[in-house]
Amino acid sequence: MILVINMFAKEEEVDAIKNKIWKLGYETHESVGMNHRIIGIVGDTSNLDQSLFDTNKVIDKVIRVQEPYKKANRLFHPDNTGIKVGNEYIGGKKLCIIAGPCSVESEDQILSIAKSVKSSGAGLLRGGAFKPRSSPYSFQGLKKHGLELLKYAKKETGLPIVTEIMSIEFLDDFIKDVDVIQVGARNMQNFELLKELGKTKKPILLKRGLSSTIEELLMSAEYILAGGNENVILCERGIRTFENYTRNTLDLSAIPAIKKLSHLPVIVDPSHAAGLWWMVEPLSKAAIAVGADGLIIEVHNDPENALCDGNQSIKPNRFENLMKQLKLCAEIEGREI
Ligand code: PEP
Ligand code: MN
Repeated sequence: MILVINMFAKEEEVDAIKNKIWKLGYETHESVGMNHRIIGIVGDTSNLDQSLFDTNKVIDKVIRVQEPYKKANRLFHPDNTGIKVGNEYIGGKKLCIIAGPCSVESEDQILSIAKSVKSSGAGLLRGGAFKPRSSPYSFQGLKKHGLELLKYAKKETGLPIVTEIMSIEFLDDFIKDVDVIQVGARNMQNFELLKELGKTKKPILLKRGLSSTIEELLMSAEYILAGGNENVILCERGIRTFENYTRNTLDLSAIPAIKKLSHLPVIVDPSHAAGLWWMVEPLSKAAIAVGADGLIIEVHNDPENALCDGNQSIKPNRFENLMKQLKLCAEIEGREI
């Protein structure tokens, strides 16, 4: 971190700043130029709070050199992190494909979709039991019964399950029954929830907030990691932009950026990004091309009558065909499915 000191600062004011830095356990490196006087804070400043200096009236500018996250930072963890879920390993050569309906609607629905996505090669089953809907009048999910149905589908197919948590109310059930706990875009900055998940050892699928920067996503991951849970999978699911043809704008550049900044695995959700079923295929291919470690895709056996997100859900036969194509894309990238 670099502090640019006002040229008119008094010597005792500069000394007070340096003393504050030393007391925090850092060393200082000073240089005095023609128009600027600069204090460099030497040491690992990833968890140093910038606001400790922002308000000092003789400091003109505070410049961060190091990212404000440490555990998620590739700088301190050069090797990729891989996360084991059942027989799947998320973040390795093999891409992780998660598929299933937006919401669990009935036993028949989830079982039939689970069986078909499994036979097409999906490694994990998705399905929402607790649904974050924009309208309180929309279907809110089957809640605990939905979890029971997911458990049943897992028992029948062997597919590990991914489902979204909205509050800590049912955290014990999630820990017991769910293989990957999803934190949805709307809860990416629910810091109390993130802290609680940090105390568990469960793999967490952390989705990027609707209007969050890459750094904010990594800071949210840091909350979970700082609590002691190192099993974090990031997910790019499209962000809000001025474009409204698609539901969101898939930020493909976030994938290589996150790969450069962090060692955590990152997957792409083309369904929520586009909001259009026919865009799932090209966006999935693009995601693999830019280095994603996997995909989470909404598949529904009757999209026209789906209780949630039917317009962005593909049918099982289309998913089967997509998987065949994605295998070829993976090969080009030196990956496999
Ligand atoms: C979902 O996965 O069903 C979901 C609600 O996603 P997001 O939080 O990305 O909107
Ligand atoms: Mn959905």
